Amino acid sequence: MAKQVGIVYHEDFLLHTSNHPEYKGRLTSIMDLLNKDKMFAQIAKIEPTPATVEEVALVHKKEYIVSLEEKINEGFNNLDLDTYLTPHSFRVALLSVGGTLTALREVMSGRKKVCFSLGRPPGHHAEPERGMGFCLFNNIAIAALVAQKEFDLKRILIIDFDVHHGNGTEKVFYDSSNVLFVSVHQSAAYPGTGGIADLGVGNGYGYNINIPLPPGCSDVEYDKVFRHIIIPLADRYEPELIMISAGYDGYRDDPLANMGLTVNGYANITQHIKKIADKHCEGKMVFSLEGGYHLDGLAKSFLATMKVVIGSDKRMEITNQKSSDKNIMEIIKKVEKNIKKVDRKV
Ligand SMILES: [Zn+2]
Repeated sequence: MAKQVGIVYHEDFLLHTSNHPEYKGRLTSIMDLLNKDKMFAQIAKIEPTPATVEEVALVHKKEYIVSLEEKINEGFNNLDLDTYLTPHSFRVALLSVGGTLTALREVMSGRKKVCFSLGRPPGHHAEPERGMGFCLFNNIAIAALVAQKEFDLKRILIIDFDVHHGNGTEKVFYDSSNVLFVSVHQSAAYPGTGGIADLGVGNGYGYNINIPLPPGCSDVEYDKVFRHIIIPLADRYEPELIMISAGYDGYRDDPLANMGLTVNGYANITQHIKKIADKHCEGKMVFSLEGGYHLDGLAKSFLATMKVVIGSDKRMEITNQKSSDKNIMEIIKKVEKNIKKVDRKV
């Protein structure tokens, strides 16, 4: 299986950096661990080509793209309080989008079955008219629209397991049933969106599923979310491709969030996603890196994902068995009602 898996990486992903939790050290810690592990020696490292402004404009308003480039050229250090800019940031943001696009094209061409883009800056908070939350362009949303355009896909499942709600991605596909967006996140954390009742509008009604979990949830709760919600949802939708906003800030020691996932918990999440992909879309998965700010936890959890994907894991046990919150079944029951609105439309 290793030959069917690729990692999209470019040294220039390191150029967008600052004294900030979302800095180049996140990627170097991943690459250091990856390069030490013989298991990954056979995995292709694929160089991305940058996205074009036209591709970015599938999601983002022209005014935003132009003003972002102007701000960077004028030497602005920040887009907002959370989101920094450097002189390289515009070019690197195009390359980061290009990373997810390259991963998509590798998978859709059949050259790879699974591809993981390590592009930075991350993307899932970026909305059509503004970047925010460390994100400049919405890598995964742009790639999903390119997947519709270039490969005529009608049913893309996006699973966002970053600990924060993927508000930008939600906004892009809120009125569409061609993308089923599922976000599992810490409730009331940044950016404050992602309520259960936010189900989409028009054709998209029922195709936006938010699963806000209380702080402290760990491997067992995420396992329940997959068993009770995401797997049945995928069975109703029958996706042609699964795209994953892979954030590792649900890790138990992450400095920016309060969840309790372990490395094995991430392996377990990946097992579930892989089973969905094997059942419905010949195993096709496109991963795009989002958050994850505990360097060791990020690198090990990423590797756990890759081990599951290449099929080399021995069914990892969820070690963190203690259920942490009694309310999760109530939340699951509330979300379960909404699953029934989803059907394979086309
Ligand atoms: Zn996050």
